[in-house]
Amino acid sequence: MVETLSIAVIGAPGVGKTSIIRQFIYNDFSEVYTPTRSRYVYRPSVILNGNMYELKILDVPPISSFPSSSSQEWLDLRCRGVRNANAYVLVYDICCVESFEYVKMIRQQIVEHREGSSSEVPILVVGNKRDLQRQRFMPRRAVSVLVKKTWKCGYVECSAKFNWHVILLFKELLGIAVARGMRQNHTSIRLQGALQRNRCTIM
Ligand code: GDP
Ligand code: MG
Repeated sequence: MVETLSIAVIGAPGVGKTSIIRQFIYNDFSEVYTPTRSRYVYRPSVILNGNMYELKILDVPPISSFPSSSSQEWLDLRCRGVRNANAYVLVYDICCVESFEYVKMIRQQIVEHREGSSSEVPILVVGNKRDLQRQRFMPRRAVSVLVKKTWKCGYVECSAKFNWHVILLFKELLGIAVARGMRQNHTSIRLQGALQRNRCTIM
């Protein structure tokens, strides 16, 4: 049986969420900014360490907050499926402090609004636009320590523009998600270094 993992990609407008997803799936990048107005679902299949996973990647349009209840999620089409995602990618722009503040708020709300042990869902914080790093607002190390030590989330920097670390971030997230889900089977050790570009296929 092929396991399906739903991943919600959330972040302030213009940080590069759609660019990251499209680079991952289609090896495609556009300089032209087309704001994402409604929720879009991508369904690639990936092979990680010999196992196939179907991903359901939700490109979430700008939302003012993480849905605090199932009814709120149901009423707002933009966040359908967001509460029950198996993992989160929270994207910010390394040159834009406000986009980091947004990620901070969403991370806090995920922890507060998801019930019970589901609040321990894997969260990967992604600093995009690494190619513009001369304009970054905070040193990489400082953000990384804050995110990993204080927030207990994963941290990766990438450039959707140059396809730098884009596969790595999905591999990192999938690694955490699969390791948590399969902890009893002790397979987590085998996950490192597994997802290769030519093994990522589109369904
Ligand atoms: P979204 O609103 O978060 O989905 O952002 P988009 O993916 O639509 O990207 C917003 C703008 O940022 C577009 O003009 C992209 O070309 C640009 N962009 C996205 N990723 C990068 C990146 O890694 N580096 C640079 N320099 N620009 C990027
Ligand atoms: Mg978008």
